[in-house]
Amino acid sequence: MPTRTLSNDKNWTIEDAEDLYRVKRWSDGYFEVGENGNLFATPDPTNTKMRIDMQAVIEEIKQEGIQFPVVVRFHDILRSQVARLNQTFASTIEAAGYKNRYMGVFPIKVNQMREVVEEVVDAGASFDYGLEAGSKAELLAVMAMNTNLDSLTILNGYKDQEFMRLALLNLKLGRKTLVVIEKFSELTLLVKIAKELDIRPLIGVRSKMTVKGRGKWESSGGERAKFGLTISEIINAARYLEEHGFADSFKLLHFHIGSQLTDIRSVKESINEGAMIYAELHKMGFALEYVDVGGGLGIDYDGTKSTNDSSRNYSMQEYVDDIVYGMQQVCDLEQVPHPIIVSESGRAMTAHHSCVVTQVVGEIKSHGSGVPTHAKSGEHILVTNIRDLSEMVNQHHNIQEIFHDASQYKEQALDAFKLRVISLEELAKIETLYWQIMEVVQRRSQDQDFAADESDELEFTLSSQYLCNFSVFQSAADTWAIDQVLPVVPLTRMNEAPTVNCSLVDITCDSDGKLDQFISENGLSNVIPMHSITEQDDYFLGLFLTGAYQDVMGDMHNLFGRLNEVHIFSHDDDPKDFYIEEVVHGSSVEDVLSIMQYHPKSMAYDVKKAIDKHVAKGQMQPREGVKWTDFYEDCLKGYTYLKV
Ligand SMILES: *Cc1c(COP(=O)(O)O)cnc(C)c1O
Repeated sequence: MPTRTLSNDKNWTIEDAEDLYRVKRWSDGYFEVGENGNLFATPDPTNTKMRIDMQAVIEEIKQEGIQFPVVVRFHDILRSQVARLNQTFASTIEAAGYKNRYMGVFPIKVNQMREVVEEVVDAGASFDYGLEAGSKAELLAVMAMNTNLDSLTILNGYKDQEFMRLALLNLKLGRKTLVVIEKFSELTLLVKIAKELDIRPLIGVRSKMTVKGRGKWESSGGERAKFGLTISEIINAARYLEEHGFADSFKLLHFHIGSQLTDIRSVKESINEGAMIYAELHKMGFALEYVDVGGGLGIDYDGTKSTNDSSRNYSMQEYVDDIVYGMQQVCDLEQVPHPIIVSESGRAMTAHHSCVVTQVVGEIKSHGSGVPTHAKSGEHILVTNIRDLSEMVNQHHNIQEIFHDASQYKEQALDAFKLRVISLEELAKIETLYWQIMEVVQRRSQDQDFAADESDELEFTLSSQYLCNFSVFQSAADTWAIDQVLPVVPLTRMNEAPTVNCSLVDITCDSDGKLDQFISENGLSNVIPMHSITEQDDYFLGLFLTGAYQDVMGDMHNLFGRLNEVHIFSHDDDPKDFYIEEVVHGSSVEDVLSIMQYHPKSMAYDVKKAIDKHVAKGQMQPREGVKWTDFYEDCLKGYTYLKV
């Protein structure tokens, strides 16, 4: 954990803030620290004159009477990412002289929100960009959303009879619907139903690849992968289709070696392996039209451009180059036609477009406020000793020695207390003095030769915890589940030097509800410098890159439920360059309780009865009773998060 030097620097500039929060590194041009110290969004890269001040967004949210925390969605970022991917494939295909086209699909599992899918479909219409579903519920959604007859509908995941029937219905409606076989028995099921309904299906098979992705999801590839057919199963599948007169239904080869691929080498290897299988099948007489390379295009969450789990060592252009040129090379060598290239990028389409805006509602200091520490006659020698130490900490030449002595006194004091040798009051004095000493030690350690481990430990123990009005389990599930790093940035005051080292904790009753991995100048840090908070002024933080998976995977821990959302559109003619197009209200207490099988109406009735009883007994005034009844009902209808 690298040491942070907090500065009370009067010369602090927004460049210092950029160095600290590294916004340009992770934001792909969509966010930056503005000249007034606020965070700015530039959602439409084709019109960089439109810049949105996050402070203005916060003001407008307040004016609309929407409570925080809030998910802010930038629809223009979503559109821009869809265009970027499709244009990158188109221009690379053109430059390479690749003799076929790209037809991408958006896997809706990454973010199934209707508004998100609608925007992706709309932005992708001119590219014939399609949708991918991985479950029956997703298929039902995709059937309603993907009405472009020139785009693909790709169906992955395990399938039952109903799933197959729905797929064939979609095909009958004229949509290019490809059923991807994940295990052999699905093939026999599909053939049976296709015969029964007399429909010629479009079939893909998913190949279990020998190459594994590197990163958190590497088990999606390799022989122990959950999905896909082995080479011999693929050959058997092809023969089976031939025997049943469906050889020409075999259209697509699919592979997906994992999400968030951190190392470009695994992309190269999988393309090579996939292209070889495609070529061989071609030579066996199965003229497949499509090769679907799956998802995996990573996001540089921590801004390091490395093979860290939360990063990737390549760009979108490099990824696309490797697919197009890699495919071309193998096909030319093997003298087979270039297939239509399909990819299923989800994370890269959606991660940037949404963020969570939350306020800091309190500071939890590591060591409270302390007690008066003046000398008292007859006090224990340990108290006197540590007081003496505290009086010399400012001058003493060797603060490492002071650090060790103070730590030892504190340990001895705890033992002495347990043995009833010192009183609770004396222990409190010793603790107070100990923390006073540590603060000086930390300040002075920065210009002395202090052991790095101890210095880091000291920094962490002395850091604060900022209590934020949100739930990690709802809004940043992967930070908890798989140690995903997400960028956190104050939305204002970045033209001031931050003065408080802190980690972030949420409002759930769970000690895991915290964020303690942050982007820093030298790798990751357990603490992040933030500005001091005051009673009068709000302090808002943004949690970024939450648009992929985080947005939709949240759970109901402590019944906090979904967040309020605002959907932002850029608009050149608007004085603030944006407008809120839609507000989606988050979960009310009633909503989350109903999901857990409660009946809010009868709960309100039961509480009312209890209040009425009190009124009847004369223990409460009738007017007061009515007020409490209304209050309980209002709370049921209200937002689950803190009202600040
Ligand atoms: C999850 C998944 C994707 C999306 O992967 P990203 O890394 O988010 O692009 C694509 N295809 C399949 C089969 C998946 O399971």
